[in-house]
Amino acid sequence: MTQVVQWFAILYDTVMMALNFLIFWRLLRAEYVSNRAVMFFSSIILYMAAEGFALGYIIYEGGSPIAELPALVLASVPLLVSGAIKPQNVRLQGSVKYSLLLATSLVVDEMGMGYLYAKAFGVNLGNWLVDSVSNVAFGLMMLADALFFLLVSRRRGKPEYALFTFATAMVFLPNVVFVYGKMIMLIFSILSSVIMIINIVLLYLVQLSGFTFRRQFFAISMALLNFLMMYGLSDFAVTGSLVVLSLTSAISMAWYLFAEVWESKDVKIEPRPGLTFLFLVLVNLAELAMGFGMTVFGFRTSLDLFMPSSASGAMGHMHAASGQMAMSSTMSQSGNMPSGTTSGMNMGMGGHMSMMRVQPWSSWDPLWWLFPFDIYSMMTMMKISGNALINMFWSSFMLIMMTTMSPFYVIMMGSEMAFLVWERYRRAKNLGVKRWALVILVSIPIFVVLVPYYTPYYVFGMSGMIIPVEVIPYLISLGAVAIAVILLGRRAYCNAVCMSAHMWTNIWYDQFKPKRHWRGWDYLRWAFLVPAIIVLVLYPLYGLGLLQPPAVKLPGAESFANFILDFYGMFVLNYVWWFFFFLTPIFGAYSCARQGWCGFGTLAGLGNKVFFKVKANSVETCRACRSVECEGACPVKIPIRSDVLLKGYTNRIACVGCGDCVEACPYGNLTIRSLIGR
Ligand code: SF4
Ligand code: SF4
Repeated sequence: MTQVVQWFAILYDTVMMALNFLIFWRLLRAEYVSNRAVMFFSSIILYMAAEGFALGYIIYEGGSPIAELPALVLASVPLLVSGAIKPQNVRLQGSVKYSLLLATSLVVDEMGMGYLYAKAFGVNLGNWLVDSVSNVAFGLMMLADALFFLLVSRRRGKPEYALFTFATAMVFLPNVVFVYGKMIMLIFSILSSVIMIINIVLLYLVQLSGFTFRRQFFAISMALLNFLMMYGLSDFAVTGSLVVLSLTSAISMAWYLFAEVWESKDVKIEPRPGLTFLFLVLVNLAELAMGFGMTVFGFRTSLDLFMPSSASGAMGHMHAASGQMAMSSTMSQSGNMPSGTTSGMNMGMGGHMSMMRVQPWSSWDPLWWLFPFDIYSMMTMMKISGNALINMFWSSFMLIMMTTMSPFYVIMMGSEMAFLVWERYRRAKNLGVKRWALVILVSIPIFVVLVPYYTPYYVFGMSGMIIPVEVIPYLISLGAVAIAVILLGRRAYCNAVCMSAHMWTNIWYDQFKPKRHWRGWDYLRWAFLVPAIIVLVLYPLYGLGLLQPPAVKLPGAESFANFILDFYGMFVLNYVWWFFFFLTPIFGAYSCARQGWCGFGTLAGLGNKVFFKVKANSVETCRACRSVECEGACPVKIPIRSDVLLKGYTNRIACVGCGDCVEACPYGNLTIRSLIGR
């Protein structure tokens, strides 16, 4: 009997879905349709929704058939209203009102069918919204919608593929498969994040491809809904409740269906920096929410799956529970902490704070390298003061720092940026710039992920989260970077090693070239250099035991000196940097180099003074030049022409070696020269 009712639910959902597609196919194919027909069909779809809810409630929940009555009355509203309005033919795709009506009707119907399926298969979480949305039938309907609308679409370009990937990302959210266990949920949520990153890349391309109302509407609204979805995922990861995730899925689905039906005209609008900025903020919020949610969810789930004896309930999990902790500091305090040692860096504000992470290779958790810590638990553990303002700063610092240090976030962001760098490679005309774009591409997996996260060799960055940066590898890394910047100039660090280059040296961020430069930054950069040098020198001195840190202690802190050193590195490279990246439309690309607040970059810039130069093939060409396009293209506002007129080349410390000036010169008059390569 149970099987019969289950088959009935599947059959009902399949037939109703086919009917929906038939209605939409007919309506979308017609150039003009009667407004009364749209409302009639809207009621038909809503009747199906009412039936889905009613059947689920009456057959499987033992509810009263009377309950169906108000649902049917509500479903009749469009039909009743259609009798009162003036009949006319309308272009469905051009009408916000009718598109919205049909999209809402369809999503309610799919929720009704999802509800019926959930009841037939015994999914009962005590909340009708969760039961309707968080089940595999609703996921399959979303997938069917994504395929159907892509197939019937009259256009087939980046916006349409962006819509398709947006819907597909929803299909793989963990709430869809929560009855199949944690492993499936984890695999699905990783897939969902990957598809969302593809969607964001498409949104960047849509946003870049022209300032039309349709493109900006698509890019901005989809970025907002990506954020909403990932917010739902984060809420699920932290609380274990499916309510918010189900709600955000339903809202996103309704918006998706509306965007599929409503075909706004591709009319040109005035370029507005505010819109671009809004898009950037929303995309970054979506990525942050994804990084946070997935790291927490991945950490807790993999711990439960692979190290169940370490897991201790839904909250507060840390891989540290396995007893395999190590410092998260850039360099272990002793400088040579052996792998597998149980330790911790007590940043101990009031004894609460222990930043810990799993030691590699000593764990059976195959996902330790992707989800090494629980951001939420660490944030809540690390309250440092009763002062609300200090706590607000500290919580935001921890949230951004831990999320941007999470390997999952870095890998996802790296993949996204790699595509935009690849596009730069494709579009570059100059061979040298093309080659350098390839160097950046290869550097992303090596220097942004592999070296800092999974080896003790890393400098100028404090995110050696899994293996601590140890003193000897640290000195070797420092030496290697020094040699590289001598041979290749600052670009060896600012393009190949630092993640900012991958973000700022790509086709999308290229549009944020600052127009002016304040001379004061040229002097202030030296002030920023001082703390960077102090940090870089103190680390090995403390690590080798050649210098004793001052005996000053914070309340409960093990070592004030190490805390300050760690804090400075993380503050500059994970917090300040991230805000400048977030605010690129205001501060411009490469604000770190132009304004000089990255002392590590300024130090690397000294390498420009050895073998590196941006050389003019002919000084006379520059003398006669009126456009000076090279300077307009330079993200750090170097006075290239006056430098060339003075000495035939430019090699200022601020030059990041991006090659934009080389590409921009209409006469092909510039070449980047260094000891290795041009
Ligand atoms: S490098 Fe090219 S754009 Fe710049 S001043 Fe010389 S000729 Fe003009
Ligand atoms: S001078 Fe040329 S290579 Fe150097 S930062 Fe400016 S645009 Fe890039």
